[in-house]
Amino acid sequence: MPTFVYMTRCDGCGHCVDICPSDIMHIDRTYRRAYNLEPNMCWECYSCVKACPQDAIDCRGYADFAPLGHSVRVLREEEKGTVSWRIRFRDGREKNFESPIRTTPWGSIPAPQELAPPRPEDFSNQLLAHEPDSLRVDAGLPTLHKDRLKQGVA
Ligand code: SF4
Ligand code: SF4
Repeated sequence: MPTFVYMTRCDGCGHCVDICPSDIMHIDRTYRRAYNLEPNMCWECYSCVKACPQDAIDCRGYADFAPLGHSVRVLREEEKGTVSWRIRFRDGREKNFESPIRTTPWGSIPAPQELAPPRPEDFSNQLLAHEPDSLRVDAGLPTLHKDRLKQGVA
């Protein structure tokens, strides 16, 4: 579901422009408000929705998800750490979903400059930078067990 901007709510801060991986959020030069330049190139990642401090970005639901006449409202609540989605169908029914914005507390991820620089031997290591510490697993990296692959299969 590609996103769009309510221009009357947008204050032109540009956070959505900075964060969009598809580079399709732009600031209108005349009105100084953001808009989705190319909705069919939207990754539907909703980074812009989560980044917008004005709750100015919503998405257009696909017909199979929310048929004609619907609305999809997104509310970002940083203090609660959640994103809420409210789907209103044309017959008046409403569905509400709430999910965490992220799985770690705000500000808990150190900036790259706060981490130790890689050592020469790290470049030939299979682990990614700062693994396994960054995965927060004490007992080594998770591995697949053959007997668990069929879980849930009758
Ligand atoms: Fe860009 Fe993702 Fe927002 Fe689409 S949902 S406009 S790709 S940030
Ligand atoms: Fe406008 Fe929100 Fe984008 Fe800021 S992040 S430019 S308020 S749509």
